[in-house]
Amino acid sequence: MLNFDIVTIFPSIFDSYFNTSIVARAQKQKAIKINIHDLRQFTSDNYKSVDDKPFSGGAGMILKLEPIYLAIKKIQKKIKDKKKTRIILFSAKGKRFNQQMAQKWAKYDRIVMICGRYEGVDERVAKNIADEEVSIGDYVLTGGEIPAMIVVDSIARLMPGVIKSASLESESHNIVNGKKILEYPQYTRPEVFKTKEGKSWRVPKVLLSGDHKKIQDYKDKNTKSY
Ligand code: SAM
Repeated sequence: MLNFDIVTIFPSIFDSYFNTSIVARAQKQKAIKINIHDLRQFTSDNYKSVDDKPFSGGAGMILKLEPIYLAIKKIQKKIKDKKKTRIILFSAKGKRFNQQMAQKWAKYDRIVMICGRYEGVDERVAKNIADEEVSIGDYVLTGGEIPAMIVVDSIARLMPGVIKSASLESESHNIVNGKKILEYPQYTRPEVFKTKEGKSWRVPKVLLSGDHKKIQDYKDKNTKSY
């Protein structure tokens, strides 16, 4: 079973998504376990403050080092094999997350994710605590919680038994024969859809032919690689 530990100041943000669809099923099947850690529980002042002004000046607040350090210390007590654990700090300037990373991380025992907020996180977390800084794309979000959902979702579906392994092989961004692929187009009923403007949108005839060889040729021809 793969454990996810998410360190966040908004623990309730995950409720709906993680209790729905494939991520919920993966938890029921005990393929994954998701542990949410409220960063405010690791503060020592009356206000449970997790952020402070940056030394360099400027607008915005920075997530403090100490609560994150203490949260990770607590999580580390559960770590059995350090080599099978990855500590991730979400950061817009980090390494871009992709399908190959999801496939690699699916083999770990534990993925620990630190969700930044405000103007970011005290740099000592990246330097001393995290194994790597990871971005989910070249844009700036308000926090690392959506990236954490993305990482959990992309990995949960790769765990053995969660979805049919045959569906995973032909999926976009998988590497097949040394090249990354983009999946062939797929259709479902009706065979012909009549629009209100009088147009007919048809399913390619070959897919209705029942000829397995021709259908496979169609799939091969329409699977792009990059
Ligand atoms: N000031 C930071 C910068 O310019 O890089 C952006 C901080 S952002 C508003 C707050 C937090 O959201 C970040 O610390 C990070 O945890 C998360 N975040 C924002 N964009 C992200 C992205 N593209 N990928 C992963 N995490 C992101």
